[in-house]
This record gives sequence, structure tokens and C-alpha cells, in this order.
Amino acid sequence: MNALLTDAERTRILAKSALFNPPPPQLPDGRRELVGLERDELIQELAAIGEKPFRAKQLWHWIYHQGVTDFSAMSSIARPLQQRLAERFVIGRPDVATVQTSTDETRKWLFRFRDGQEAETVYIPDRHADRGAVCISSQVGCTLSCRFCHTGTQTLVRNLGAAEIVGQFMAARDAYAEWPSPRGETPRLLSTIVLMGMGEPLYNYDNVARAMRIVMDGEGIGLSRRRITLSTSGVVPMMDRCGEELGVNLAVSLHAVRDDLRDEIVPLNRKYPIAELIAACRRYPGASNARRITFEYVMLRGVNDSEAEAQELVRLIAGIPAKVNLIPFNPWPGSSYLPSTRESLERFAAIVQDAGFASPIRMPRGQDILAACGQLRTDSRRDAARGRPAAGEPV
Ligand code: SAH
Ligand code: SF4
Repeated sequence: MNALLTDAERTRILAKSALFNPPPPQLPDGRRELVGLERDELIQELAAIGEKPFRAKQLWHWIYHQGVTDFSAMSSIARPLQQRLAERFVIGRPDVATVQTSTDETRKWLFRFRDGQEAETVYIPDRHADRGAVCISSQVGCTLSCRFCHTGTQTLVRNLGAAEIVGQFMAARDAYAEWPSPRGETPRLLSTIVLMGMGEPLYNYDNVARAMRIVMDGEGIGLSRRRITLSTSGVVPMMDRCGEELGVNLAVSLHAVRDDLRDEIVPLNRKYPIAELIAACRRYPGASNARRITFEYVMLRGVNDSEAEAQELVRLIAGIPAKVNLIPFNPWPGSSYLPSTRESLERFAAIVQDAGFASPIRMPRGQDILAACGQLRTDSRRDAARGRPAAGEPV
């Protein structure tokens, strides 16, 4: 794809994804949600009520470092101003509709947002250390319909807003009493974010980018970009932008090494075929041996798990600082694939490993509560009355 075409394509993707934007982050009584505003926007909101920029710094600290949701707990702010703030603003969290904890300690929340739409978030504790990853959703449903993915059976309802994306992480932190935010490189339990929940983050780029800038801000949650991994099914025109602007780790859902098969199981491939996807990975800014691109590969029995495919995979990614994450297929109600056998998994992993790429097999977590990769799905539906355009095709 040449540069001009890429620009045009990017503009088209952003315009189309804006059609699925969430309702404004405001309560029916007019109070504005402060979570999800970037610093300069917070400064502007406060300027509008005659407050100086240092107030934004104070508020930022209370919201994102201390994790408070109540203005009256902000001891550095005088009571009359606390009251004025509370009349105009709110610091919210998504409601917890349900929460389930797996026998392996993985925890899954179904969060409900102000308009009643829902999305799932999963906390996956590290089995060997006191930390873990929070798997965050970027959309309610997904426009894409990868054949092996439960989310893909639900059409896109809408994008999640920045407040809702950051809010998932903040609400998860509330549950583990993880405030105030840890400083520097001594993270607590909720130490990394993986954008691998429901939805395609690069089809909701603006909201995701805003949310990630907020969680990376050093005076608040302060997660370094090395602790954030964004997973994409291969929205090629947005990959460069993500690398340049956010510099987070990239995970790419490859799953097949031939276009005919990838066209079928990851339909986005018809738009951005393997060669273009791999080229975008080769030029991903910031990729290095210390910061490798992760290729995700769901192992489907008899579909994509042969030795020949493993060999083709290492040929395709030769020279890219990469690792290959082999994901045993996680079944869901109505799914039509089987997970690869242990032997094929190990044979496949050995070929990739021998070619010099780390090839960890991702152990399924939280399967008993349908919290493993690709099992997330909600009953949220689009509200036809809102008159949104039909989903069901890639934006
Ligand atoms: N839309 C993004 C991120 C969400 S999916 C993407 O596709 O990358 C996160 C990961 O889970 C992807 O690699 C996806 O392919 C994988 N996945 C989906 N369904 C799965 C299943 N049933 N079993 C195992 N992994 C699955
Ligand atoms: Fe969407 Fe990712 Fe599922 Fe594909 S794998 S349907 S892109 S969430």
C-alpha cells in the first residue's frame, strides 16, 4: 500500500469508527465524567469554571494516583471548591454487573456502562509471581468475525469511550485495593494491560489511544508502554500510527500462513493480506530484540497446525524481532473447531523454537468461567432506535 493510499484508508477507518462512538460521558443531570479526559482537557474544563491549571494537577493526582471517586476525600482542595466540583463533575466507574473467580484465580468482570451496554474484563494473575495482567475490552462486540472467536459472533454494538476503557482498569484496581498507584518499577498485582478483550482496538483507535495516554501518565497510574500490549487482527493502516504515537508492544493475530486459509478464519485478511501485514510488522517502530512483536497463533486441530505450516511461519517472520505465542483453541458454546493435540502443539513449537523464536504455549486461564482468550461475549445488542449504521462488515 503506498503512503497516499494508507493516509486515505486511515481517514476512512477513523471516520467510520467515529459512527460507533459511545454516548457523551455525561450524567442525565448534566454532570461531566472526569475520567477519560486528557490533562489539557481537564485544564480546560477547570478553566471554564475559573480554576487555574494547578487544580488540574491536583485532581489528576487524586483521580489517577490515589484512585478516589469522591471529591470530599480530596484533602488538598478546600471544601467550597470540593462542593463546586461535585456539582459539575463526577468521577465514575463502570458498574459491576457480575464478577466470577476461576479455580485458577483468574477473575472476570462483566461491566455495565451508563447506557446499559456491557463488556468483559479479565484479570489473569501470574502463576509464578505476585503480579498479573488485566485484559481489557475496547469495543462491545466486534465488526470482524474471526471463525474461532466468540466475540466475533456478536456484531459491533459500539466503541468503548476512553472513560470506559480506563474505567475497566480502575475498577479492577478497586477490587484488589491497589490504590494509590505504585511508583516506578515496583508494580503491584495489576501490573500490565493487554488490549486483548472484546473488540478490535485499532478500529477504535482514538478512544484507545486516549485511554493509553492516560494510563501511561507518570503522575497518575504511570504504567510504562512496555507494560501495555495491544493485540490486533491486522488493521495494517493503523499499525504504524499506533507504533509512532503510543509505542506500546504489539501483538498480531496471525493464525494462518497462507492467504486462502487466513481469508477464511480471519476475514480481515481479504482486505489486508499476509504480505502487507508482515511488512507492517517489519516497520513497526520500536520493535527490537528487547521489545519483540508477538505473533499470536490459535492452534486449531487439523486446520493450521501442521509441520509445514510451522516451517512456513518461520520463513514469513524471518528477521523480525518476534516471539510466537501458541494459543490452544479455547472452545465456546457452538464453536466448531477442536484444539490441536498436545503432540502437534509441541511439534509446532519445536520448529519455531529451533528457528530462534521463543514459542511459549499460552496455557488457557479461567476456562471454567469462559474467561480464556476468545471466549468473551456479552448479550449487549445495538439499540436500533439510535439509528446507527448496520454493523457486520469491517469498518
Ligand atoms: N481483536 C484483537 C484483540 C482481541 S482477541 C485481535 O483479534 O487480536 C485476543 C486474542 O485471542 C487474539 O489473538 C484472538 O485471535 C485470540 N482468540 C480468539 N478466539 C480464540 C479462541 N477461541 N481460542 C483461543 N484464542 C482465541
Ligand atoms: Fe474481533 Fe479479535 Fe475476535 Fe477477530 S479475534 S472477532 S478481531 S475480537
